[in-house]
Amino acid sequence: MSVTVHGLRKRFVQGDLPAVEDVSFVAPSGAITSLLGPSGSGKTTVLRMIAGLEEPDSGSVSIEGVDCTRTPVQRRGVGFVFQGYALFEHLDVRGNIGFGLKIQKAARAAIDARVDELLVLVGLKDLGKRLPAQLSGGQRQRVAFARALATRPRVLLLDEPFGALDTRVRLELRDWLGELNAKTHVTTLLVTHDQDEALELSQQVIVMNEGKVAQAGAPNHIYDHPASPFIASFIGNANILKGQVSAGVTAVGSMAVSTPQGAIDGAVNAFVRPNEVKLSRAVEGAGGGELPLGRIEGILRVGGNVRVNLRLPSDERMTVHLRMAELEALGVGEGDRVLVDIGSAKVFMGDYSI
Ligand code: ADP
Ligand code: MG
Repeated sequence: MSVTVHGLRKRFVQGDLPAVEDVSFVAPSGAITSLLGPSGSGKTTVLRMIAGLEEPDSGSVSIEGVDCTRTPVQRRGVGFVFQGYALFEHLDVRGNIGFGLKIQKAARAAIDARVDELLVLVGLKDLGKRLPAQLSGGQRQRVAFARALATRPRVLLLDEPFGALDTRVRLELRDWLGELNAKTHVTTLLVTHDQDEALELSQQVIVMNEGKVAQAGAPNHIYDHPASPFIASFIGNANILKGQVSAGVTAVGSMAVSTPQGAIDGAVNAFVRPNEVKLSRAVEGAGGGELPLGRIEGILRVGGNVRVNLRLPSDERMTVHLRMAELEALGVGEGDRVLVDIGSAKVFMGDYSI
């Protein structure tokens, strides 16, 4: 069941900019499509319009090619899971999972059979009689998924479903959701501000910024080919460095980088991801102004990784992420100078740095 949205627009407050403007995309059948973007970029509003919880000012929502823009929420055949796992605290796990079917007046035996099936699917086979208060956060959220799937929705809508969980459980449930989708093939829309979650879980990522679609595509394509400075800086938390095109050659300080298509002489920004910088040891005695040297201002160890803060000759600062072993192999420390290679930088005309 594919979901198509076309030209969606929603303004909550007259005179304000719209919360969502001209949003169009297709979420393919059976896949996970993520809506990724910073807080306030309009992700939840888009999801609520697909659900039928919010009416668009203009634009349309179709499921499997059938327009449902004005169809009430109960008749859209969608299931939801939100961040706060709002389970019914007075109902046990079975009661929670079967709730939607009971509302639909399904037969008792049919409800029991479906609940049994879902308990196995979400890995809670022996916990049917527990009350929500007797479950861990991760288990509660799996009950919420089972409850959303009980009525066999055509589309599963997830709004930051792991947002309230601690890191380990969040990572576990991320894998689990991928497996769940592979088993159920329910078309899924996942709202998240966590780029790792979106890049890892989904077949398609819609990146949103200020109410609009900034870029849509396969996760690796967006990572490798950011379409705009916003995407280049947002995906991978890139450093932004000032550079220059002159006579068709682009440089950031003394570091040569690729020249953007159609570039004319003038200012550029290079977007450099902390994990895509290569450092090497500066040779003793070298260090004329021509070498791309950076001075190590600080090293912060985070378990097996390190964050190296560099100061470049331009006085700009840059963050580099290395494995602890890589730093040890380099044999450098705070105050030392290192050669910096930003060859993989994404370069855009203009100056977006602050
Ligand atoms: P996201 O989910 O990406 O964080 P939202 O869709 O929740 O973003 O919000 C987008 C914008 O719309 C924000 O500026 C938010 O304050 C505004 N907004 C959302 N819901 C309402 C509402 N019911 N009334 C007024 N403004 C709203
Ligand atoms: Mg939101």
